[in-house]
Amino acid sequence: SYRKGGYHAVRLADQFAGGRYIAQRKLGWGQFSTVWLAYDTNTSSYVALKIQKSAAQFVQAALHEIDVLSSIADSDPTNSKFVIQLIDHFKHTGPNGQHLCMVLEFLGDSLLRLIRYNRYKGLPLNKVREICKYVLTGLDYLHSELGIIHTDLKPENILLCSTIDLAKDPCRSGISPILERPEGNPNGAVTSLIEKRLKRRARRAVAKISGRRSSVGGIVEAAKTGRNIDGIDVRCKIVDFGNACWADKQFAEEIQTRQYRAPEVILKAGYSFSTDMWSFACIAFELATGDMLFTPKGGQGFSEDEDHLALMMELLGKMPRKIAIGGAQSKDYFDRHGDLKRIRRLKFWPLDKLLIDRYKFSVNDAQEFAEFLLPLLDFAPEKRPTARECLQHPWLNCKESTPNEIRNESSVEKVGVGMSNLKIRVGK
Ligand code: ATP
Ligand code: MG
Ligand code: MG
Repeated sequence: SYRKGGYHAVRLADQFAGGRYIAQRKLGWGQFSTVWLAYDTNTSSYVALKIQKSAAQFVQAALHEIDVLSSIADSDPTNSKFVIQLIDHFKHTGPNGQHLCMVLEFLGDSLLRLIRYNRYKGLPLNKVREICKYVLTGLDYLHSELGIIHTDLKPENILLCSTIDLAKDPCRSGISPILERPEGNPNGAVTSLIEKRLKRRARRAVAKISGRRSSVGGIVEAAKTGRNIDGIDVRCKIVDFGNACWADKQFAEEIQTRQYRAPEVILKAGYSFSTDMWSFACIAFELATGDMLFTPKGGQGFSEDEDHLALMMELLGKMPRKIAIGGAQSKDYFDRHGDLKRIRRLKFWPLDKLLIDRYKFSVNDAQEFAEFLLPLLDFAPEKRPTARECLQHPWLNCKESTPNEIRNESSVEKVGVGMSNLKIRVGK
């Protein structure tokens, strides 16, 4: 991918935007870009520099993302809405072409890493509640103030904030940025040795600021003390607006990552803000249990979509006929009675029972959590609560719940997959 039209190769201490930003270390990459930790010499702080591939379609995508991010930043001058902030953007020309670059606030690890770090056991419910409040606040802002649908909410796209304060104040964190690379040394071996040393220093610096590598979100100590996440500041922000759209200017029919996809998207019945709320419920479940809510698989005689619809109905009850047959794709999956054509036997396993049987929730915790989630998983999109309504739900403010060490001790050995592995699906 490091060729014409592809990624821009970055070396340590490379300069961008006329020397304002200095590359420190690669933070990650995606289908569209590489993301680097950079030092902003104007503000003396660390930022994340997202460098897009240079081919026309990537430029197009970046322009859209910048458009969305600009409107997010414009309406949130105090950066208090729990959505990623765009700081700057510019073009950078390199050997592979012209790359659009986005300068973003530097955040910590994703919720996916937090879940992994916690060994897929599920976070304590009080942490889940906190995270939910931040995500809902961010969603309410996007939906009701900006009219934006994210369309790709998942744990990977929510990043912890805990690095921010330190990143803003590198002096206090005791990490000095690397400002220049040693001048070209004719002796390659020595150059690479210096480079290695510089890289090691940069790695240590990032580990110190962000807690990357050995832990999550800035809490290096937690890794040493038995993965106790109680001390982790769980403020988090919604990121990755590459697929976001304005509700009145939709362009993609197939949206969302498979496991977080809402039924109306599968059935091609149109979507709106409520489709993000479905994904949000899937995320909340995953945070609390360590397992994805739905992990559909295609099989003999049925597709992944059909398994997905079957899993939804096994958990939530039969889909109302009107909804089942109401989408452009419905005829492929449902007969005129609203029954799945190729999966005839469903094994119902309601959410509260699942939480008790498989995840060892107390009856009380299970019922309260299910009462919070089920309205968000309504098959009728317009009946799902909005982010703002959801913020009022009593579950978010209840205090008591069984500590999850107790839950986990009695919990069955899990392999990191959802409930589908327990079921033998018979296609027709
Ligand atoms: P995708 O294929 O997911 O659309 P993308 O090319 O649009 O990828 P992003 O998902 O925005 O790229 O970023 C890639 C990775 O870089 C992220 O998964 C994350 O690890 C890291 N990253 C992105 N933004 C930040 C940030 N603001 N602070 C810290 N790390 C970040
Ligand atoms: Mg991404
Ligand atoms: Mg993206």
